[in-house]
Amino acid sequence: MKSKVALVRCNSYEAEEVKKAVARGLELIGGTQSFVSKGEKILLKVNLLVGEVPEKCVTTHPAVFKAVAEEFAAQGAVLLYGDSPGFGATGAAAKKAGIADVAETLNIEAADFKDGREVFYEAGVQNKKFHIANGVLDADGLISLPKMKTHGLERFTGGVKNQFGCVVGIRKGEFHVKLPDATDFAKMLVDLNSFIKPRLYVMDGVMAMEGNGPRGGTPLAMNVLLFSTDPIALDATACRMINLNPLFVPTTLVGAEAGAGNYKEEDIEIVGDALKDFICLDFNVERTPVKSIKKGKMVQFLNNRLVPKPYIIEEKCTQCGTCVHSCPVDGKAVNWLNNDKTKAPVYDYSKCIKCYCCQEMCPESAIYLKEPMIIKVGKMF
Ligand code: SF4
Ligand code: SF4
Repeated sequence: MKSKVALVRCNSYEAEEVKKAVARGLELIGGTQSFVSKGEKILLKVNLLVGEVPEKCVTTHPAVFKAVAEEFAAQGAVLLYGDSPGFGATGAAAKKAGIADVAETLNIEAADFKDGREVFYEAGVQNKKFHIANGVLDADGLISLPKMKTHGLERFTGGVKNQFGCVVGIRKGEFHVKLPDATDFAKMLVDLNSFIKPRLYVMDGVMAMEGNGPRGGTPLAMNVLLFSTDPIALDATACRMINLNPLFVPTTLVGAEAGAGNYKEEDIEIVGDALKDFICLDFNVERTPVKSIKKGKMVQFLNNRLVPKPYIIEEKCTQCGTCVHSCPVDGKAVNWLNNDKTKAPVYDYSKCIKCYCCQEMCPESAIYLKEPMIIKVGKMF
């Protein structure tokens, strides 16, 4: 059976325009009433990677959150919202991103994303045990509101990746250490997503992020909202918009293999506005498959020569220490040299597992991923 993806043009975050676009998208995808019943506790899972103002395009825009919340509240759903940021507390991140103010106006409570419980997911392929936020487990259903952005490790972060924030705090770092390979990591994300099973995804692509995402990239107007119940079809369609082969995104590749959704054009029915109207051929994203990282000494030797490494642009670095704090590796693979916090931290690549948490969290876009020379030379032939 084909998966449906609704595309709706939305040229700004002006409240009325977003409201109309969201109402149209929800109608196209089956109607708000088909996703919730009166009195159900529904969690709106926003992307709050870190506390940033909406203009930076790191987080789900509050106007999208508001419009979706109003639609579901009108159906009698009891709404909550939340996410577990990669850095800092949920409340502070939600405040800075403008989500908390909207929630307060609409009387939407913050769900518990500080503490969680261990769950066992029998059907998991890569991972069967997760430590999930209480706010997710206590809800009757979840509506996922991802942001359209590039991502250092997975190329692109959309519908599937958004649920990683359902894993509480430090537990996220443990997955990076356990699963340094992007494909293994993607398998875990697909397991996690299949366990949580959001009822619907509404992707904020009004202003997307290209380049050094998911935090330090550049905002770019894509003027679109995407709606689907199939996260693989949703992400594959977003990839086609940014001229990226969907199979270069590990979550889409392994998600399709696992039967979590459809990625082929012929298996996706686009409704609403035409896909061709949103295609951005020169969207700044890495258009190559991710390099595999496996364990073992020889393999580690090759990894260090084949897999892109994070580098710090010293002139941009403000010595804030976020990268050091974010590194999940025991003993830290990026750290202060001789504890000198007046200079940029330095890398110990022999310890680095290339999870790119440091690049993901740097507030100054001072960390970038550099391809090894051998790969650059290879691309010339
Ligand atoms: S996170 Fe970025 S700005 Fe902060 S210390 Fe690391 S490189 Fe410098
Ligand atoms: S240095 Fe950066 S890429 Fe390497 S392990 Fe630490 S956070 Fe991950």
